[in-house]
Amino acid sequence: MAAMTGHTDIPETMRALICHGVRDYRLETRPVPTPGPGEILVKVHDCGICASDIKCYGGAALFWGDEFRDAYVEPPLIPGHEFTGRVAALGEGAGERHGVDLGDRVVAEQIVPCNACRYCQRGLYWLCVKAQVFGFKKAVEGGMAEYMIFPANSRVYRVPDTMSDKHAALIEPLGCALHAVERGSIHLGDVVVQVGCGTLGLCMVAAERLKNPGLLIALDLIDSRLDLARQFGADVTFNPNHTDVVQEVLKLTDGYGCDVLIEATGNPHAIEPSLHMIRKAGTFVEFSVMKGSSNVDWTIIGDGKELDILGAHLAPYTFPTSIDYLERGLISIEPIITDVLPLEAHDRGFKAVEHPETSIKVLLRP
Ligand SMILES: [Zn+2]
Ligand SMILES: [Zn+2]
Repeated sequence: MAAMTGHTDIPETMRALICHGVRDYRLETRPVPTPGPGEILVKVHDCGICASDIKCYGGAALFWGDEFRDAYVEPPLIPGHEFTGRVAALGEGAGERHGVDLGDRVVAEQIVPCNACRYCQRGLYWLCVKAQVFGFKKAVEGGMAEYMIFPANSRVYRVPDTMSDKHAALIEPLGCALHAVERGSIHLGDVVVQVGCGTLGLCMVAAERLKNPGLLIALDLIDSRLDLARQFGADVTFNPNHTDVVQEVLKLTDGYGCDVLIEATGNPHAIEPSLHMIRKAGTFVEFSVMKGSSNVDWTIIGDGKELDILGAHLAPYTFPTSIDYLERGLISIEPIITDVLPLEAHDRGFKAVEHPETSIKVLLRP
């Protein structure tokens, strides 16, 4: 069996965080997987805890399903889709297939497309019917372990060695943010409102700044996040706990409302006020993964304003730009990483993201 090439110091077992169910995540010992044809074994350096990981941890609809959504997660499995690492071993043909060598620093997109369904065939691979997203499906276990497999269909990218660990860990979230901002088709001089300044919202603010908007307004319930939003390029920030944000946005736009609004709060209550902040024929981009449904007066969208309502999902085609912008310093967002914890401290990490008074992006370092 000479098909696999790899370092000789790969151990037989590894520590891995296993999701067994709601709030039941345990550190266990697992065999280090062997890469098959086209697969890469990666020694994980960091794995971020995403808001969607918290939705699973807390058992929201995404996990168990409800009348509208199927259960999505397949426990027991290793969570985590925001990983960086180095190539530790290559399955047969994997080096050529992915353009990587042993020791290369690498990331992979969250979704491993099937390349066979109607969406994949049309280039819409991020909407693949199989929805094999790392850390949520058994076939694609995640990065909260010492080692992980990038399957043959993974979309793999090399990360420059000169990039800081914190920026490397933000390649995936920034990739998602770039896609959402592109969906908004921001034009020169537009007034843009960013609703929600968590990890993704802050990445969006930095990306929106690059579009040179006429005015960039950011909203969040936590003041320290608004400080970062200004640091990353917001002109004005408001906290809806202290301010009537709809009135403020209308005041700043001669009563018309903003041109483009991007929603990334994860809070269903943010939707209706957001619709009231947009001008007629304006654009609303929805990025959030919500805990539940939102009741809004749908008439605003048609009869009221003729709005363009758009969705944004994952990071299609944006990883190369994300890596390039971070590498060139066009986007500098290291302060988003507030905590770097060992895998043993996973409980503290998940709770910090769940109750984010001081933490924004928490990394687990296996
Ligand atoms: Zn994520
Ligand atoms: Zn597919």
